[in-house]
Amino acid sequence: TSFAHFGFDEQLMHQIRKSEYTQPTPIQCQGVPIALSGRDMIGIAKTGSGKTAAFIWPMLVHIMDQKELEAGEGPIAVIVCPTRELCQQVRTERRSEGNLSYSLRSVAVYGGGSMWEQAKALQEGAEIVVCTPGRLIDHVKKKATSLQRVTYLVFDEADRMFDMGFEYQVRSIASHVRPDRQTLLFSATFRKKIERLARDILVDPIRVVQ
Ligand code: AMP
Repeated sequence: TSFAHFGFDEQLMHQIRKSEYTQPTPIQCQGVPIALSGRDMIGIAKTGSGKTAAFIWPMLVHIMDQKELEAGEGPIAVIVCPTRELCQQVRTERRSEGNLSYSLRSVAVYGGGSMWEQAKALQEGAEIVVCTPGRLIDHVKKKATSLQRVTYLVFDEADRMFDMGFEYQVRSIASHVRPDRQTLLFSATFRKKIERLARDILVDPIRVVQ
């Protein structure tokens, strides 16, 4: 597979050429077409596999389509990560993977950061929110943002989130997002607990193993 097979528009292809990636990684070859098709997906992949771009590129396509359909408030895509560091990494990656050229806005909200500053950023509006689970719920409870427009939901490093005791929060986020969303779940390992979570919050998912 080459990048041309994904059918991305010229803007995104330009960005990929600029990144100087020569070819998609295995998780991208398998995962991108599934994510673009709108199906739910379980990606068993580690850091370093290129998994972030595998959910970010289809996310950009999804948002550009959805934006025309639905005006409104609140993010269209939410990416839930275990740690502040990962939130920041994903947000940086998102920038380099191309949504600057689409002029999409993203906000990172995580535990340990200023509630007030994050709430302000959320209220200014963003199509993409990258977050840790507990902090997102705090903001939703305080009505700093709403999840009603979310149609693309990613759980990154789900096994680590479980190890950190975030299972309840992960499930709570899933239950607050409309059922006709697309959900992608990434995990380095596929344990019983992750399998159970996948069964509960994904619909007829396709599993991709790195
Ligand atoms: P990740 O697994 O998402 O943490 O990505 C690991 C690193 O691989 C990141 O620094 C990406 O910029 C890089 N990367 C992503 N896709 C590709 C690709 N197709 N070719 C080379 N490097 C890539």
